[in-house]
Amino acid sequence: MSGNPFLTDKHEALRQRVREFAEREIKPLAAELDEQEIFSVELTAKMGEAGFFGIQAPKDLGGQELDTLSYIIIVEEIARIDSSQAATVAAVNSLAIAPILKYGTEEQKRTYVPPLCTGKRTWAFGLTEENAGSDAMGSETTAVLEGDHWVINGAKTHITNSSSSIAGGVTLQAVTGEKKGRKRLSAILVERGTPGFTSEPSKNKMMWRASDTGKLYFKDCRVPAGNLLGEEGQGGRIMLNTLDAGRLSIAAVGLGLARGAMEASVEHAKSRVQFGKPISKFQAVGFKLADMDMKIELARNTLYNACWRKDNNLQFAREAAISKLYTSEIAREVADEAVQVHGAKGLFKPHPIERFYRDQRLLQIGEGTSEILRLVISRYMGL
Ligand SMILES: Cc1cc2nc3c(=O)[nH]c(=O)nc-3n(C[C@H](O)[C@H](O)[C@H](O)COP(=O)(O)OP(=O)(O)OC[C@H]3O[C@@H](n4cnc5c(N)ncnc54)[C@H](O)[C@@H]3O)c2cc1C
Repeated sequence: MSGNPFLTDKHEALRQRVREFAEREIKPLAAELDEQEIFSVELTAKMGEAGFFGIQAPKDLGGQELDTLSYIIIVEEIARIDSSQAATVAAVNSLAIAPILKYGTEEQKRTYVPPLCTGKRTWAFGLTEENAGSDAMGSETTAVLEGDHWVINGAKTHITNSSSSIAGGVTLQAVTGEKKGRKRLSAILVERGTPGFTSEPSKNKMMWRASDTGKLYFKDCRVPAGNLLGEEGQGGRIMLNTLDAGRLSIAAVGLGLARGAMEASVEHAKSRVQFGKPISKFQAVGFKLADMDMKIELARNTLYNACWRKDNNLQFAREAAISKLYTSEIAREVADEAVQVHGAKGLFKPHPIERFYRDQRLLQIGEGTSEILRLVISRYMGL
């Protein structure tokens, strides 16, 4: 019986399996992929073979049909070793597959979902633009219906899983009209290889250096009218609802990273001897570790509660926002104190703590900055 009320023995067995995979397959490569800024096609395929893509997709579409908690455990265990790989997994499951399953036609599901469950193909979620970041409704990319084709013009920036050799395409938000002075936004699926659609990798990232981030350009790019996801004018809602669930997986990246940082700190504090004893015996160090443990416990319960609510068809957007905000902030605090506990060692590559310290920084920015999440939460308070 699991010690956590949200988890079953099946969840714990899954955790064990993913942990072993991450230790065996990801850990030996993580530092080098980070240093060289390489997105590994081979490792992504291995994660596909291990069943880390399509985790919640139906079995007849190639998925695992598992619950949200199982998905979150997988992301958490990968992030305990490497946030970049966790980001790849989270983006395919939450941002690529989930909206197609929720809003797609039968034909769209059968066309797009099965290849994304294999780890041999990724798919992007194109919301952010140069002039539309937090203000996601400020999109400037346009899609005009000409006959039976959408003609797309514009660009997207900072997009995960968008430009590697296995990037298959993007679900993008575009302006498709105007009503009462407000933009009508729609979500459209665009396959890589469509004339007028190009992408380019974004290099020199501080964090998630082994994940694929890129820019997308659309110049008179024509896609069939049937590539509309959901209904015309429904795009804003599709994108924002997708982010509500996506925040759970970003929280899982933060939780896993914080756990990895804490475990390394405990190990180091027990073995590092100064003034004739392990530094863990100094209360100033021991209390840092105790604070890490407390924050991680609270973050875990907040996240698992949000997942449980989603799995039980309860409103979960508020809880997802709270969980993503809290977990990303404690990930920063834990990574920071982990550096402190490690002393100079934690400041040098290839020590994982140096990488964790950089990787946590995105968590307070991506999929809703901490400020925007406070706005979301305050709206649920009627403010
Ligand atoms: C590695 C990486 C991967 C990403 N992947 C994707 C992806 O796959 N798809 C995608 O669409 N996007 C992606 N993004 C983009 C990410 O979602 C945006 O960076 C994020 O939404 C913030 O937008 P911005 O960077 O333009 O910041 P801005 O919106 O310019 O914000 C700058 C600052 O102003 C604050 N601010 C803005 N508006 C308000 C307000 N109303 N009240 C208070 N404060 C405010 C923000 O909180 C922030 O502190 C990714 C980014 C990175 C770095």
